[in-house]
Parts: sequence; C-alpha cells; structure tokens
Amino acid sequence: MYDANNIFARILRGEVPADKTYEDEHALAFRDIRPLAPEHILVIPKGAYIDMEDFTARASDAEITGLFRAVGETARRLGLTKGGYRILANSGADAHQEVPHLHIHIFAGRPLGPMLKREA
Ligand code: 5GP
Repeated sequence: MYDANNIFARILRGEVPADKTYEDEHALAFRDIRPLAPEHILVIPKGAYIDMEDFTARASDAEITGLFRAVGETARRLGLTKGGYRILANSGADAHQEVPHLHIHIFAGRPLGPMLKREA
C-alpha cells in the first residue's frame, strides 16, 4: 500500500522544499539531496505510485508518457544531452529502493563508469 507520508509525497504537496528543475502536469524533477554525480536529478510521477511495478500496472498511458517525456525534457533543459547521461530506477527490495514513490534517477556531468559492479 502506498505510504502518503513518504518524503517525495511530501515534496509533491509542498510540505518539504526541493530544488526543482522541471515540472509539468504529470511529473516533477528535482535535485537529489545527496548527489552521486555532478548532476543528479530525480524525476517522479505526480500520481501515487510505489515503484515501476505499480506504475506500469496502474498508471494511464498519459502518465507513463508524461514521466518519460519529463526525463528527456529535464536532460535537455539542463544541457545534459551533449555529454550524455544515465537513467536508473530502483524498484523493490533487491534494487535497494529507499523511497517508496517511483523515481527515475538522472546522473550526468562526469564519466559514469560501468553500469553495475561485476561480481568476482
Ligand atoms: P532510491 O535508493 O530509493 O533509488 O533513491 C532515493 C534517493 O532519494 C536517494 O538518492 C536520496 O539521496 C534521495 N532523497 C532522500 N530523501 C530526499 C529528500 O528529502 N530530498 C531530496 N531531494 N532527495 C532525497
């Protein structure tokens, strides 16, 4: 069940401040509070969705399109397309998702290295 008091729900309601970089009808983008790259943005749907499983099962086509368009728009507006960027969405326990409101990370601003650490 969706926790309406998770930190991103509170950011969406304006109860907690965020360094916003893009907003439209379906999505909000803001800087991660503990950045892992020179640019580290989180893009979230405005609807109450826990993770990618919940979102792809219940969201409308317009919400799904809107979230992904917001990712592209955020990258363009911040000038990330030239050097490139990485997107990542942790979904569920094995992925180590910490905040239970779907979010897509955008990382950019330096060479990001391999996608995941290889197991020995
Ligand atoms: P996850 O591990 O769930 O994929 O990522 C959660 C992300 O949310 C982390 O990178 C963390 O730094 C970020 N985060 C947690 N609390 C806040 C907050 O209050 N404000 C912002 N802007 N980011 C947060």
